[in-house]
Amino acid sequence: AKSDGRNTFCFYNSDMSHQARDRLLLEQALREAIASNGLSLNFQPKVQLETGEVFASEVLVRWNHLTQGFISPSVFIPIAERSGLIADLGRWVMEETCRYLAEIKQSGLTILPVAINLSVHELEGSGFAKHLMKYVNDYDLEPSLFEFEVTETGLISREEMVIESLKQLREAGFRVALDDFGTGYSSLSYLRKLPLTTLKIDRAFVSDITDDKVAASIVRTVITLAESLGLEVIAEGVETKEQQSILLKLGCTKAQGYFFYKPLDSLEFRKLINH
Ligand code: C2E
Ligand code: CA
Ligand code: CA
Ligand code: CA
Repeated sequence: AKSDGRNTFCFYNSDMSHQARDRLLLEQALREAIASNGLSLNFQPKVQLETGEVFASEVLVRWNHLTQGFISPSVFIPIAERSGLIADLGRWVMEETCRYLAEIKQSGLTILPVAINLSVHELEGSGFAKHLMKYVNDYDLEPSLFEFEVTETGLISREEMVIESLKQLREAGFRVALDDFGTGYSSLSYLRKLPLTTLKIDRAFVSDITDDKVAASIVRTVITLAESLGLEVIAEGVETKEQQSILLKLGCTKAQGYFFYKPLDSLEFRKLINH
């Protein structure tokens, strides 16, 4: 039993160093991808729930790794956060989005508002809003075109600084959305503390809505609450016609999800909005 234990320990140990090495390699590759345009942007349409009319989009970053192929942002965003690369990644996403919008504007085509995901790590430094305004001004765009989506995950430990940064974003004319609403522990108290314009109802509620009366009641209540607070509400992850019709009955007017559109690359998205 004793030697078993030792073997197990050794195995575990080498496994750990493999993991650490893999992570380091991935981190290095990500650094190079950020520096050399190895990332790209997708745009997922936000639609009017009833008609499917596109009114905005959410920007989602994509990484096509040279040898490993497509890697999900839910894998590399946490790596970027832990390694400090998130600041550079965020700057790249913001600048690339501005470049894309400016290009559309110059060709005289319709330009729709965009939502960009922010990690709370990006909101820690002071002067974040000013720094974003620089891109907006450089590309001759309006701040009202931009919404920034934040989740409450990780917010608690740095609450004051993050709230201050979000206030500065609002003062600069940007919109602010609380993402994945309802999945955290203190969503309701954040409604009071954060300077929000939008609530995004998490996919988990939407997927349960067809056969779970409690999920449906929660969604109905969130919609009423948001309306009385003057916030826009959007349901995420709508995948079926049935979900669409229940959400309509519950008073929801805006949505995102595979039922309408998957995330599209910039060319596909441009074709969609300009027919
Ligand atoms: P999120 O902000 O909650 O984004 C929604 C995710 O759900 C996206 O995954 C999207 O592709 C997916 N999705 C959309 N509609 C549906 C649907 O109907 N059904 C299902 N099953 N999924 C749907 P994605 O693109 O893999 O992004 C994952 C997460 O990575 C995002 O979650 C966001 O937290 C983060 N992320 C993505 N891009 C960025 C970025 O530029 N910066 C930062 N900081 N985070 C990002
Ligand atoms: Ca989001
Ligand atoms: Ca979300
Ligand atoms: Ca999420």
